[in-house]
Amino acid sequence: MNATELTEVELQNLKESLLFQKGTILNKTHEFKEEQSSMAAVADEAEAASQDISNNISIHLHERDRTALYAIERALGKIADGTYGQCEACSELISARRLQARPFTALCIDCMEEQESHSSIFQ
Ligand SMILES: [Zn+2]
Repeated sequence: MNATELTEVELQNLKESLLFQKGTILNKTHEFKEEQSSMAAVADEAEAASQDISNNISIHLHERDRTALYAIERALGKIADGTYGQCEACSELISARRLQARPFTALCIDCMEEQESHSSIFQ
């Protein structure tokens, strides 16, 4: 294992990058909703009103964005409780370089490759 713990500055940068990505996804959702609402003038208002807003957001998000948003939230939670940067599968530290490339990754490169090789069997 050659990964070292993240410095305060690195952690702060990664957190900002996570928040930025989260904002980008949520902005997209917002734009999408505005588009929808201008088109949905004829839609059943009672039905629209009964829908939970957060539910609405997740329905309208693209699958990929939803997955990313979930991963971002989890990563931010881990930053908050001090477990960020640890692989979820083997508990080894994930290298700073990998985190900088994919701040919301939950797995180290070895475990990720392992998982990818497994999932390719089923494709
Ligand atoms: Zn791992």
